[in-house]
Order: sequence, then C-alpha cells, then structure tokens
Amino acid sequence: MSSCGAPAAEGGEALMQKRQKYDKSKNCVRCKDNIGNIVVRHAVYCKNCFSPMIAAKFRRGVEPYVNEAPKGRRRLKASGNILVGLSGGVGSTVILDLVNQSYFAPRTDTPGGKEHPRFNERIWQKGFVCYVDISAVFPNMRDRTNEVRNAAKTYDALEFILVRLENAFDDSWWTSVGGKPSNSELFVDFADQDLLITAISDSNTDPVAALRTFISALPTQTAISQAIPTLVRVLLLYTARHLGVSHVLLGTSLTSLSISLISSISQGGGFTVREESDEQWMAPGSTTPIRIIKPLQDVGMKECSAWAWWHGLPVVQKEKLPGTGQDIAALTKDFIVGLEKDYPSTVSTIAKTCAKLAPKHGSVRRCLLCERPIQEGIDDWLTRTSIRSLSIGNTTPRFSTARLTPSLCYSCHTTLTSKSSRGATKSTSSFVRLPVWLSAGLQSAEYSMFQIPDERDQPAEKTSAKDTEVWQTRKIGQQEMKHAIGDFLIEDSGQ
Ligand SMILES: [Zn+2]
Ligand SMILES: [Zn+2]
Repeated sequence: MSSCGAPAAEGGEALMQKRQKYDKSKNCVRCKDNIGNIVVRHAVYCKNCFSPMIAAKFRRGVEPYVNEAPKGRRRLKASGNILVGLSGGVGSTVILDLVNQSYFAPRTDTPGGKEHPRFNERIWQKGFVCYVDISAVFPNMRDRTNEVRNAAKTYDALEFILVRLENAFDDSWWTSVGGKPSNSELFVDFADQDLLITAISDSNTDPVAALRTFISALPTQTAISQAIPTLVRVLLLYTARHLGVSHVLLGTSLTSLSISLISSISQGGGFTVREESDEQWMAPGSTTPIRIIKPLQDVGMKECSAWAWWHGLPVVQKEKLPGTGQDIAALTKDFIVGLEKDYPSTVSTIAKTCAKLAPKHGSVRRCLLCERPIQEGIDDWLTRTSIRSLSIGNTTPRFSTARLTPSLCYSCHTTLTSKSSRGATKSTSSFVRLPVWLSAGLQSAEYSMFQIPDERDQPAEKTSAKDTEVWQTRKIGQQEMKHAIGDFLIEDSGQ
C-alpha cells in the first residue's frame, strides 16, 4: 500500500494541477482489503467503509454545536427540539436519513439489551421534518408535497410539518406560529429606489396573489433566485421557533455551500458570508438562539448521491424554477459543478477560504427581510430619510411611514431594487405586500433595540479524512487547463 500522502499540495502552488481520479491503489484506504467503490477527493473507499465515514463526518458536523448534559459523562443534551429542513433534494434527503439513523432510530448494531432495544441517548426530545412547498410561486409548477410527505413517512420518529411559500404573506399562518397580528398590511413599490412604505388597514390580500406580485415585481431573474431561498429560510426559522427547536439542520453539501458562498458574495452578501456556513438566529423577543447547522458542508454532492443510492432513499427532486439558467445562481452552479469534476479539492478550498473570512465591522441590528445581521456603518450609505404620502386608486392609506431601506441589509436591498445589466427595468410600479415578519418587525416598538449577539463559539477542531488520503499529482499543460475552465473565463482570446 502506497502512502505517499502529500495533501499539502491542496490549495498550494500546485492548485491547478489536475490529479488522477484516484490514488495508485484501487483498494479501499480504510480496510485496505476491498476493491474501492467510490473515490472521495482522490481517496478510494469501499461501500462498507463509506457509510461509517459519512456518518462520522455528519456527527462531527452536529455535535460540537450541542451542549453537554449537566454532569453528563460525555452525554449531549440540547436545550430544545431538532428540525430538519427537507427540500426533496439529495442533500436534505440524506440528512434526514442520517438524523434518524444517528439520533432517533433504535440501534441495530448492538446485539445486547434483550429486554429493551437499545436507543441512542435522546439528545433532542422531539424531531420535526419541515417541507416548504414553493409550487405556488408560478402557475404550472408541480406541487410535490405528497411525494415529499411519503418520502418522509419512513421516519416516523420525526413529525412532518408542511409550510407553503405563500405563508410568508398569510396573517393566519403568522399568528399560528406565534406572530403578533399586525394592524395593517405594509406595501412598497420596488420600482421606487426609496422603497417607501405604505400601510393599508383593510386590504385582505390573498396570500398566493401577494406572493406572485412580490416575485413578479423583483427586478431580475437573479433577484428571484435569491429571494425564494430567503423566504424559505425565514419560514423555516419561524416554524422552528414555534416548535421549540434549538437546532435546525439543513442538507447543504460542500458543493451547494460553495455555490451559495460565491453567488451570495457576488450579490452583495459578503458581510454575512460566515452565516452561510454557521449561523445562529435570535428570534425577536427570545433569549435563546436557534442554531442553523449544515453538517454535510464537508461532503460533496457525489458522496450524498452515493449515500442516497446505496441506502435506497427516495429522492423526490426539487422543482425547477421556470426561467432560471442565466441568473447568477445558475451560472455559479454550472461553474462549481464543472470545477468539481476536475478539481474536487478546489471546491473545498472555496468553503475553507470563506470560513476564514470575518467581517471588519460588527453588526448593530438584523435585516428585517432575511433576518441576518446588518453591517455596522451602513447607515452612512442610507442617511437620506424621507416621509411622503401616497395614495393608490381610491384607497387612501391610513398612514405613510418612512422608507424600508434602512431596515434591510445591503444584499436584500440589492435583491429588491437592482437593475438588470441589460437595462430592462420594470417601469410599471406595482404595490407589493411585504412578508408578514417584515411587516411585524417594522410595526414592533422594540425594533431598533434588537441586537445580534456575537457568541459564535467555534466547534471543536475538525479532524479531516484528508489525513488518510493518498495523492498523486501530475502536471498538466496550459492548454489542457484552459480547456477545462475555458467556459468560465470572461476573456477568451482562443478559438
Ligand atoms: Zn473498506
Ligand atoms: Zn437581508
């Protein structure tokens, strides 16, 4: 068995050297006996060794974020329940399986304990799996709720919760998750850079209609691809708060984390780059934060697919948004997925590099739309404040308030107001209802007093499977390298 372990090359000067798909040996790096079934970043694993390796990575991704039980002998005890966000995609399907297997299912690997089947120590009292259906966003999108519900049925220890994207505009949903009913619905006009807020006390907008108006008023396709995950995320968070959840688990793989990091930075989300991989959310009026964990952020999409395949998991697949393909998120995805094929370590370097970034300034408050921290000092950029009066048709607004802009982070403001590079801006102004939490936040007296705590305790040093990997490097020519990444170069003099 060769052990020419030279992982130091990763991210180093040999960055763009194409490596062979696997090491010199075709045998598994763990057991050394079996012929390998899968190559994970140049290391070969057999089927038997692959699953425990992924399960261990998963637990290492979760458990440093859970408190130890008082006086426990290395036992963990969470302060609340656990919620798995299920999208129907591969990553979240795998994470649901891992949560169930690691923390809820009776253990099958230990023969002892005749009287009672051995359960893992319950870390969380209750488990939930939450699906946010987005099919109402455009007509003709398929509602996959039943398929997702069936897929989740196997895990009967976890309760299935359905949320729909239009709930973001639904007062009755908002009160059902413990939100304070607001006196009036708030509207803005995205075509107006100032984002003036108008309040209407008796509008009674239909949630689906309000959702569609909101989405169709967004300036670009990129903004739509950005806004929908934001709404999904915040819906999950408020659902989690209502269910007494302390940990929200998302199935973001290394591949999708790298995609969202690059695409978020490119859209002005640089300040919250840390929140993409490790985030705590303090609900308004709450004193205990909810931890949002992505335990597969060190596991590539290929490994997730292998887990799903070998464990026979039903992957429903996410419904594709019509019209996507040329927006920043889709282009970033093409780039990263392409990069991963030839330069798998580079994708992990993206995530590792971003993990080292820290914002220069602190945060004073949270963004009322995405609920993430707003950069300190951003007020200088937003000093202008104006109060105007508006009327729509025959309805006279009961009162007009200031601009929405100061309550938004840079990224959300860009999402709502950015202009398309092609200059095709929507000139028609339309009044768009704001999501329920945003209305509630603006109308709450204590808004300006919200503080984001910065007690992000770091998880324990992660040991990397890299230590057991073996590498072979070879030099590739300029042409070959250029061929591999050529599609993504802006200037291409070749051809
Ligand atoms: Zn093996
Ligand atoms: Zn925001």
